[in-house]
Amino acid sequence: MNENRLPLADKRQVRRAAWALLRGDAKALTMVIVLYCLAAVAGLAAPWLLGEIVDRVDSGAGIGTVDMLGLAIAGFLLAQLLFDRFGRYLGYRYGERALARMREDFIDDTLRLPVSVVERAGSGDLMTRSTGDVNTLGTIVRQALPEMVIAAAHIVFILGAVIVLNPLFSLCALLMILPLWLIMRWYLRRARSAYLAEGDANTEMSEVMAATAAGAKTVEAFGLADRRVAAGDATVAEGTRTRRKTLWLRTVMFPVADFSYVLPMAAALFFGGLLYFNDVVSLGVVIAASLYLRQLVEPLDQALMWIEQLQQGGASFARVRGVAEVEPDRVPSGDEPVGDTIEVTGVHYAYTSGRDVLHGIDLSVRAGEHLAVVGPSGAGKSTLGRLLAGVDAPRVGAVKVGGVAVTDLDQAELRRRIALVTQDHHVFIGTVRDNLILAKPTATDDEVLSALGTVGATWLDTLPEGLDTQLGAGHTELDAPQAQQIALARLVLADPHTLILDEATSLLDPTAAREAERALAAVLHGRTVIAIAHRLHAAHDADRVAIVDGGRITELGSHDELVAAGGSYAALWRSWHGETD
Ligand code: ADP
Repeated sequence: MNENRLPLADKRQVRRAAWALLRGDAKALTMVIVLYCLAAVAGLAAPWLLGEIVDRVDSGAGIGTVDMLGLAIAGFLLAQLLFDRFGRYLGYRYGERALARMREDFIDDTLRLPVSVVERAGSGDLMTRSTGDVNTLGTIVRQALPEMVIAAAHIVFILGAVIVLNPLFSLCALLMILPLWLIMRWYLRRARSAYLAEGDANTEMSEVMAATAAGAKTVEAFGLADRRVAAGDATVAEGTRTRRKTLWLRTVMFPVADFSYVLPMAAALFFGGLLYFNDVVSLGVVIAASLYLRQLVEPLDQALMWIEQLQQGGASFARVRGVAEVEPDRVPSGDEPVGDTIEVTGVHYAYTSGRDVLHGIDLSVRAGEHLAVVGPSGAGKSTLGRLLAGVDAPRVGAVKVGGVAVTDLDQAELRRRIALVTQDHHVFIGTVRDNLILAKPTATDDEVLSALGTVGATWLDTLPEGLDTQLGAGHTELDAPQAQQIALARLVLADPHTLILDEATSLLDPTAAREAERALAAVLHGRTVIAIAHRLHAAHDADRVAIVDGGRITELGSHDELVAAGGSYAALWRSWHGETD
């Protein structure tokens, strides 16, 4: 298992979160409980009235009495129906609201996750939590919660009624409750870990499948199909094993429970008969008591079913709430940067401890400077880019903007200053406006239009509804250059003073359309730009060039200086220039 997986909330945290969720709408919940209790009380009338009928007929009452009692039964049943109907209506509405709150919290928690944590945990984990686990919780909150409350109300009132009728009969209820309690204890002790293991196995399964699908071309190119199939089989086997375990738990628990249900009624009839023949109780009481005990089965069965669901729900909740337990990877120091100069001093960095990939980087980039970073693959350019953008903190040394370490800045504050631009630009489902203002929620339409104008997105005029046009699958689909312009326009709106372009090769591709080039130039104008570049023509246009090799900066200077110095850059330049001339 991946030890970088996102954390699970422990029992105490789950309990606290569940309690907070319930209490979130306390008034509605109280109303629901009151209605359910009224329904349960109304439901008690029928068996008692039936007993009354038997006793009164026994003592010679006429048909009029029976009719009246019969009518009363019908009246109470109707009342029960109405209370039940409104209780359920409010209960389900309450559940939907609680679920909505939980989903919103989950989204907030997810968005707060540090990028590095998500990268290490793998997206499969987050995906399973946000789909499978949230769905399981949906069922719980929508159905299990109201049904559990209904069942609990019934059980309490029915037991109360049996005790009032004759305490002796409550002993019969014990006959059922004892084995039920034992088997549930046995079950619950094993269930949490079993369901957690099942959840983990499912995550593993989606992760392996997703990796295989995402790397399909690589798998094919290197003939890895057999190995990937074997990896898939292994996770499926683990999934089956964990599922069998939970299935086994259920196959032991449910039959024992079913058997326990029939005990009390049998006991009530048997002992009730004895008591009746010894003139301790009337026939009506025996009938009412056995009917009550019979009535107890349904809510108990419901409760058991939902307890089992609650177990799965507990595991899912632990996984969903676990996301909230991720510690922030930085604590803003509150210091305000002075100026926009970027200073990198004595930086070392390792992904795995003991294996530094950066070995003492010193670099100073003044505001407005354009710096190109070039070097062989694996040299550490992207790593440097991540540190400059504050995704990770250096192991030793400091990366500062305006005198403040970038990882000491609040995330939002950091992103207002420094943006990391990579090759992928995502177009979200939503309108053109939605896609842009996520970079600046307060942006006016004029600002949005002007940002699109800056990047030369003239195609906006051809869209049916302008800024209100829906983008994404099933709606208007943008082509790659257009998606790129959306990404660039977002940068214009976000207006950071520094851009780190990490191999944004598609943006810098010399074969790209002229407009794209011009759009990019418009965005870069007036900002500090640190461009990690494949192509040397980007280096040629930059104010300075840094050559990174083996985790160190080996050459640093303007294009002309480096060419004149005759080092590795000069050699690279000569060979590249020679090829393209
Ligand atoms: P470049 O961008 O110059 O190609 P990188 O910064 O991506 O180089 O990588 C520098 C070194 O760090 C390489 O040896 C690479 O294998 C290693 N590396 C990069 N990313 C990770 C990671 N997530 N975990 C472990 N090692 C990594």
